[in-house]
Amino acid sequence: MGKEALSIGADTFQFFTRNPQGGKAKDLDATDMQKYREFAQQHNFAKIVAHAPYTLNPCSDNPATREFAEMAFTDDLKRMEFVPNNYYNFHPGSHVGQGTEKGIALIADLLNRVLKPEQTTVVLLETMSGKGSEVGCSFAELAQIISALKLPEKVGVCLDTCHVFAAGYDIVNDLDGVFTQFDKTIGLKRLKAVHLNDSLMPFNSHKDRHAKIGEGQIGLKALAAFVKHPAVSDLPFILETPNDLSGYAAEILLMRQS
Ligand code: FE
Ligand code: FE
Ligand code: ZN
Repeated sequence: MGKEALSIGADTFQFFTRNPQGGKAKDLDATDMQKYREFAQQHNFAKIVAHAPYTLNPCSDNPATREFAEMAFTDDLKRMEFVPNNYYNFHPGSHVGQGTEKGIALIADLLNRVLKPEQTTVVLLETMSGKGSEVGCSFAELAQIISALKLPEKVGVCLDTCHVFAAGYDIVNDLDGVFTQFDKTIGLKRLKAVHLNDSLMPFNSHKDRHAKIGEGQIGLKALAAFVKHPAVSDLPFILETPNDLSGYAAEILLMRQS
């Protein structure tokens, strides 16, 4: 994965720890991971982002689903220590009708069970669009989760531009205002990574459909201004746009040149 990233002009990448729809992860290959660590150092890679499976839902009303979440989370964090000091990003979850407060409590519960003082991985809560009963579509909800943690220093936030736009944060007309709000509620020091996507769906639609850079409702101009903003310009940026490899290469170039 590192070589593929390098070949398209990237110096970071995101990968799924297992099938995004859930299931068992492949066995660990320690030699492979050792090779990646050397490769990353040699090519001066930024921190990489592992993405938890979409089926991981800490605030489901089904105990078996919550058990899977804890099992997968624990196992993934164990694996991540083979590539220390990187990020593990997850969707906070969907409360499926139990209510946001209950959802927040269950998410904090899971984190309080799986986070360990000795881990080097920082776990990232992804900002969500608020489709269905998703928790984490407002900065305030993410701040509430973090404030309920025993080890808050192990947790940060990954801002998804498509999701925040769909959630009603106006990164097109009021980028400074959005970052000010983030800073006041969560604290900019917790912002660790960005998912850079355009949005097919309109502002405040609470719908999650990614578009190619410049082909959505956020637009090229706003995304170019976003990547240059001092609040995020040093962070790892991950494209989750509907593209093939050459499409990603073109978008990376476009963003680097903008
Ligand atoms: Fe995601
Ligand atoms: Fe995302
Ligand atoms: Zn999305």
